[in-house]
Amino acid sequence: MNQKMNRKNVYTFGNKEAEGKADMKNLLGGKGANLAEMNLIGVPVPPGFTITTEVCTDYNRLGKDAVVEMLKPEVEAAITKLESIMGAGFGDKENPLLVSVRSGARASMPGMMDTVLNLGLNDEAVAGIAKKSGNERFAWDSYRRFVQMYGDVVMGMKPASKEEHDPFEVIIEAIKEERGVELDTQLTVDDLKEMVRRFKAAVKTQTGQEFPTDPWIQLWGSVLAVFDSWNNERAKLYRKLEGIPDEWGTAVNVQAMVFGNMGESSATGVAFTRDAATGENIFNGEYLINAQGEDVVAGIRTPQQITKEGSQRWAQLANISEQERAEKYPSLEETMPELYKQLFETQNKLEKHYADMQDLEFTIQEGKLWLLQTRNGKRTGAAMVRIAMEMLDEGMINEETALLRVSPNRLDELLHPVFEEQALLDATPITKGLPASPGAATGQIVFFADEAKNYANTILVRTETSPEDLEGMNIANGILTARGGMTSHAAVVARGMGKCCVSGAGAIRVDYKKRTLTVDGKTFKEGAWISLNGSTGQVYEGHVKTIDPELSGNFGQLMELSDKYAKMLVRTNADTPHDATVARNFGAQGIGLCRTEHMFFEGERIKAVREMILSEKEEGRRAALAKILPYQRKDFEGIFEAMQDLPVTVRLLDPPLHEFVPHEEKNQREMAEEMGISIEEVQKKVHDLAEFNPMLGHRGCRLGNTYPEISEMQARAIIEAALNLKAKGIHAVPEIMIPLTGTVEEMRMQETIVRNTVKKVFEERGDTVEYLVGTMIEIPRAALTADRIAESAEFFSFGTNDLTQMTFGYSRDDAGKFLPVYLEKNILKEDPFQVLDQEGVGQLVRMGVERGRSTRKNLKIGICGEHGGEPSSIEFCHRVGMNYVSCSPFRVPIARLAAAQAVLKNK
Ligand code: PEP
Ligand code: MG
Repeated sequence: MNQKMNRKNVYTFGNKEAEGKADMKNLLGGKGANLAEMNLIGVPVPPGFTITTEVCTDYNRLGKDAVVEMLKPEVEAAITKLESIMGAGFGDKENPLLVSVRSGARASMPGMMDTVLNLGLNDEAVAGIAKKSGNERFAWDSYRRFVQMYGDVVMGMKPASKEEHDPFEVIIEAIKEERGVELDTQLTVDDLKEMVRRFKAAVKTQTGQEFPTDPWIQLWGSVLAVFDSWNNERAKLYRKLEGIPDEWGTAVNVQAMVFGNMGESSATGVAFTRDAATGENIFNGEYLINAQGEDVVAGIRTPQQITKEGSQRWAQLANISEQERAEKYPSLEETMPELYKQLFETQNKLEKHYADMQDLEFTIQEGKLWLLQTRNGKRTGAAMVRIAMEMLDEGMINEETALLRVSPNRLDELLHPVFEEQALLDATPITKGLPASPGAATGQIVFFADEAKNYANTILVRTETSPEDLEGMNIANGILTARGGMTSHAAVVARGMGKCCVSGAGAIRVDYKKRTLTVDGKTFKEGAWISLNGSTGQVYEGHVKTIDPELSGNFGQLMELSDKYAKMLVRTNADTPHDATVARNFGAQGIGLCRTEHMFFEGERIKAVREMILSEKEEGRRAALAKILPYQRKDFEGIFEAMQDLPVTVRLLDPPLHEFVPHEEKNQREMAEEMGISIEEVQKKVHDLAEFNPMLGHRGCRLGNTYPEISEMQARAIIEAALNLKAKGIHAVPEIMIPLTGTVEEMRMQETIVRNTVKKVFEERGDTVEYLVGTMIEIPRAALTADRIAESAEFFSFGTNDLTQMTFGYSRDDAGKFLPVYLEKNILKEDPFQVLDQEGVGQLVRMGVERGRSTRKNLKIGICGEHGGEPSSIEFCHRVGMNYVSCSPFRVPIARLAAAQAVLKNK
């Protein structure tokens, strides 16, 4: 305890001074650290103080009373300081100090935790504020907002489920109905007074407690509620999605209130120093005159644009004439030119200072500009790439920073489909909203977030979204909202997720009860298909076909830069010439895994494959293999040609034979006829081939060692294909890979079969090609005895799918039954089949690399399990000294960037 008492828990800021600074995010949270920093660089910020994240951790451990006792002296001193800066008194009747209480974790978690505004108001203070501001309406409007927020957040009145109504909203609606008005702004001061009275009565009825009038009680209640909100369901889910540790905790920021709703010379808004959707270097954002911050993000009023250019672009998208725009929706640049100028200069200063795109919140109170927050803005994958590359070109950041600015997984968004041009021409538009988050999406309509999982492809349609909808937004292909601007919850969250979103489609009406969406007299029921273009805001009827996107110049620049820094090469896992070509266009430097089994299923050849398997004797198998050979050779020719001059690792047959045999009677009969044997004989063979544990059974090199003729045929097909291409002047670089090796003897036997076959082919053809023979390392014993295996193998490729399966003892095919529970219960932090388990499986990988190279110093080593496209696993591969990673074609760009970042992070 003593140590706690000496620890500093509260950091003040105000009047261009601050006890904290930008690099103290871990302690002060992102918001707190930046509020301090803004003071230090002379940006106008309402004064206040930050309670550290350490206190949140204490609170979760020690509980309420101990934490309040510990904080009391420091918080009281900080309030006194605040009172003196503001010239107002906390709890003073004449001149009350009002504060906001907000969360602020290390990483931004938009809208996930709680906030209380206008704290310090009570029946006496409201009169003081009315007198001081000369605006009684404003005072009572602030008061009713406070009672509602405090009631919802601190006193637990917020409804727990979507079926229930917020009791305060019910009262507001009732009063509006009684007065016969539609908008809040049409209510009189007396109406607002009546509203507060009813709010308080509702608090008493529902909680059994009086609404607290003492500002200190209000303050402690709010501070603790913010700590509590760290553990609410949506915050926990968000942390899980974003990989934010539960242990971090949130800081609490208490700040003097400034008001954007003090009349026509007041306003509030949100702005970005660059375009968060496209990355374009253009200042942009939204504001509302005479409003509080939550009005802009809640989507209740349609916000106006900050810059004139932005406003004109917006009007064009919304089909609004210039005249109407200028009259009804003028920009801040037009309505408050002087303040706009200050805001513009401030955003410039902040972006330069942080050397990154900033997301700002500001308030103008009676003609004075205040900044409430700045943070690195969330952005789409495309914007991430463009901003990083342009800031590099502008000299604002260096190459290494630019590379580290892009998170590899976000590149996925750039590689994903857009609408096919013709399909788009044929599509029927139904309405237009704001282009809130780019990309194309098509799916079946659902109206409730928790029902998004009911269909394979969904579009979540809401009047507006709230943080409760997070899970459904994550599952849906796209999001469509009727209300809200570019900074509405739906828009911000969707951009963060890289998910297509159209917001503020004002013409749509959502009826949650009937589960319908109506637009211009047309009604769409739940389950109907619609399509969204998040880049233009268009909404279409039906299922509009999508295609792969074109990549921008910035993307190419990023990839080139990645290759400049990366030490590992990136190959691809591809079984067809098409996949090989796609991957090559994404920059793949070869094929790391060509699985031959997929080729065995195609068309007519499956019959020959079955004939081979069902044959009792070697002779019969050889006859069937002779039929397969030409198909295989042709497959390899196609793939080698697509990868010309680059290495292609072809793996010999791996899966248990049982996977190929006919299981249905119809196919069994066909097979029997084909082979001239009885159906019973076929059925007996199928039965004999069944295994209890096929994944640990007759598969991999065990097939090639029991039926050498299979390996012979495959080795022949590979080498004949390479020679055929050579004759056409095409350079193939085959690497023959033995699957599932566990002992050096298994490997040696396969190597001998392959080399003898190749020798024979060379003699037959009177020509040669270069080739290698190596192995997968995917059985723990292979990693343990890698020094022996390297006596025979010329290269290793880590098959971390099987290696994970066999190290954990989790069946790849059955893990779905318990893995989700293990993840939920935190027994596992991550799915080990997606993210390499560095602690366990990683030891085998490291050992395999070291022991393999102890025998063969320059042993070429790669990875071809799913982990080869996952950034943290790629970093591990770099650390253990692999030469390359191999992943699916669409992950190649991700892997190229991750390989570069691995170098930068491990310098
Ligand atoms: C592996 O086991 O990691 C691998 C790449 O092989 P497969 O997934 O085909 O078993
Ligand atoms: Mg495998």
